Amino acid sequence: MTRERASCFTLRGVTMCGIIGYVGERAAAPILLDGLRRLEYRGYDSAGVAVLSARGAIDVRKRRGKLGNLTTLLDAGSALEGTLGMGHTRWATHGAPNDVNAHPHSDCEGRIVVVHNGIIENYQELRARLTARGHGFRSETDTEALVHLIEDEYHAMDGRRDFPEAVRRALRQVRGAYAIVAFCRDDPDLLVGARQNAPLVVGLGEGENYVASDIAAMLAHTRTVVALEDGEIAAVRRCGASIRTLDGAPVNHEPFNVEWDDVGGSKGGFPHFVLKEIHEQPEALSHALIGRIQEGRPALAELAHLDLSRVNRVALVGCGSAFYASLIGKYLFEGWARLPVELSVASEFRYAQPVIDERTLCVFVSQSGETADTLASFRLAQDAGAMTVALTNTQGSSLARGAGAVIFLQVGPEIGVVATKTFTAQTALLTLMALYLAMRRGTMEAGAARQVCEALLRIPQQMESLIRREAEYRAIAERYAEHRSMFFIGRHLGYPVALEGALKVKEISYIHAEGYPAGELKHGPIAMLEPAVPVVAVATQGSTYEKVVSNMQEVRARGAKVLAVATEGDDAIRAHCDDALYVPATHHSLTPLLAVVPLQFFAYHIAARLGRDVDQPRNLAKSVTVE
Ligand code: GLU
Repeated sequence: MTRERASCFTLRGVTMCGIIGYVGERAAAPILLDGLRRLEYRGYDSAGVAVLSARGAIDVRKRRGKLGNLTTLLDAGSALEGTLGMGHTRWATHGAPNDVNAHPHSDCEGRIVVVHNGIIENYQELRARLTARGHGFRSETDTEALVHLIEDEYHAMDGRRDFPEAVRRALRQVRGAYAIVAFCRDDPDLLVGARQNAPLVVGLGEGENYVASDIAAMLAHTRTVVALEDGEIAAVRRCGASIRTLDGAPVNHEPFNVEWDDVGGSKGGFPHFVLKEIHEQPEALSHALIGRIQEGRPALAELAHLDLSRVNRVALVGCGSAFYASLIGKYLFEGWARLPVELSVASEFRYAQPVIDERTLCVFVSQSGETADTLASFRLAQDAGAMTVALTNTQGSSLARGAGAVIFLQVGPEIGVVATKTFTAQTALLTLMALYLAMRRGTMEAGAARQVCEALLRIPQQMESLIRREAEYRAIAERYAEHRSMFFIGRHLGYPVALEGALKVKEISYIHAEGYPAGELKHGPIAMLEPAVPVVAVATQGSTYEKVVSNMQEVRARGAKVLAVATEGDDAIRAHCDDALYVPATHHSLTPLLAVVPLQFFAYHIAARLGRDVDQPRNLAKSVTVE
């Protein structure tokens, strides 16, 4: 079997919508809608489906706004019948989020339909050319140029009716980024999928097959998956799928088996996925640690083949919460493994001309494994000959397939747009990586490593105790819901926790919240403080405890209300704060794993109190595959 790799990988503005396609014996519409429900977190400007009816007509229904608007439309109309179809949730890049711009898009005659994730960069040029050739455009999207281009190529084949070939010829003229699914009413057993810098996977079933932007969309039906590479096109039929490169060369990828549970569809009685995922953390963390601590030592078999003796520096790269988890990683890698660590936000790393070579260990942290900037940074490291490690939650993702070594989070799908269980899992696994590196380099005593490992194994149980205190955290959170601005401060390992706490509040409650190193506050932001601007201080026990307490006193002297995250039993802290969120004591290096949990509850209950859309906050998407 050959495994062709796309020859070029220039990441361009890929977007974040969701795609699902189905071909089989069953009614397509319910399968598509269920898939879209599982994908809705990716984009929710509009949703649409197209189904090929038994009479050979293509029925397209689409609506602006969330999936609920589409289901209302479908409920009000005639039944959508047919066993082949596609669905899409959009995150608009070109054209307003309205009904007309919603996908799927059709050609002039309603013979061909396309859904698309990404940006067709040369769409204006294509549109002008196709308009001149008589094609009528209805939407403002870049995507519509693609469907007319396919139509043009299809007609140019003089009745040969080779639809995959028409798509292939069209895509060879397209610049930009895409994952697409297309079908044509002349071939009622065929879905065509293709990708370039945006994820697309084929799911293999019995007498039925799927194409989707995300494994989660089809997990209820199949776990056997083939991931397309960039520059590949798949012809998917009821009884099988064949893949070619855009140059026409056949490709044969081994399918892999997905081990996630299909939990993504159900909130398990919680009002929001985010709350469910906060509660899931003890179990998720236990899963993340399974087999990775043995006899009191870190056991990361995934890294065993790497020649770590040649590593002289580390680069940690991520975005958002993954970046904050990486900051914790930096402190621990440096403290234990005594390696210099460069920490970068991926969107900066890729442009900063980082000094990396074959002696650099580059670790890329991305829940989805598809984050555009992280992938671009990864390619940069690959080109520089660096050793690459991916820390991701997603099997089959671009990062997982490309990296020299992969550590999977093993925490199952995270549906809430904001990171909760993936943040704690990333933090725990970066901690283990730091220990592992220190042991391999001989910079840490076995006894010291054992202490951390034993404490780490106790964290899931300690998290349980935190989760039982939700009512207490909630009562405090609700008292802070009226504030319009907040600061979060911490030092050393408390600093990334402050950053993550502030990010959670921003993301889901839309309250301005800023994370700051506690010692840095007086170099500027302290000017913002007044009674209406509370300060949340991460003041768990550890080497910087007293310094943080001093900083709490400084801000209180300016009239700010102070909420402390403190270690259980620390009654003395009450003299320096208005409220306290207590967490159990643990090894000082592991405090972030516990301290962040009450802050997740804090952000969640503020947002819920304010009636925010917690699972799908405005302007955000789960998998940020756009630059
Ligand atoms: N660029 C296309 C549009 O704006 C696709 C967006 C998406 O990925 O959802 O319609």
